[in-house]
Amino acid sequence: MDLKSLIRDIPDFPKPGILFRDITTLLRNPDGLRHTVDTLTQQCKDRFDKIDYVVGMESRGFIFGTPLAYQLGAGFIPVRKPGKLPAAVCRVEYELEYGVDRLEMHEDALGEGCRVLIVDDLIATGGTAAATAQLVQQTGSELLGFAFIIELQGLGGREKLPDVPILTLIEY
Ligand code: AMP
Repeated sequence: MDLKSLIRDIPDFPKPGILFRDITTLLRNPDGLRHTVDTLTQQCKDRFDKIDYVVGMESRGFIFGTPLAYQLGAGFIPVRKPGKLPAAVCRVEYELEYGVDRLEMHEDALGEGCRVLIVDDLIATGGTAAATAQLVQQTGSELLGFAFIIELQGLGGREKLPDVPILTLIEY
């Protein structure tokens, strides 16, 4: 199935010069949605032994991470922007082009010995995924790998991540 044909390109969103890869057109297509989740599930099963938890980043990591966790028989853990999670959190700061951003996770969500996969819709510079990896690893959990629907190549994203397997379905 040609998943790329279901992704819509929006030039200059959210700011001039960015070509936004819009996955809402993939999500609204029943076959596209099923194929994406099923393919990702199969690749994860082939690549990783026993995943305990899927960690997904706000907000498109939630969309793919939850059905993936369900299919893998794993739990799902949300990583969110500051001030959204109700219980005690651990946090990490990471650098953006201009300024810094922060991500948070419930501090009791993971611990020593948990086997974790990190999922997001897209990797660009890798800043978001690298920060999430830091959050996961500082709990003492074992980071097994990453899964992304889309990889924007040539932005150095992979190089920012720890040395674990990285699965992607579509590359630009
Ligand atoms: P990065 O931290 O640079 O790897 O950016 C990854 C995050 O930003 C992901 O959560 C993506 O959803 C979003 N993102 C970055 N660039 C794009 C793009 N060109 N199109 C759609 N989403 C993007």
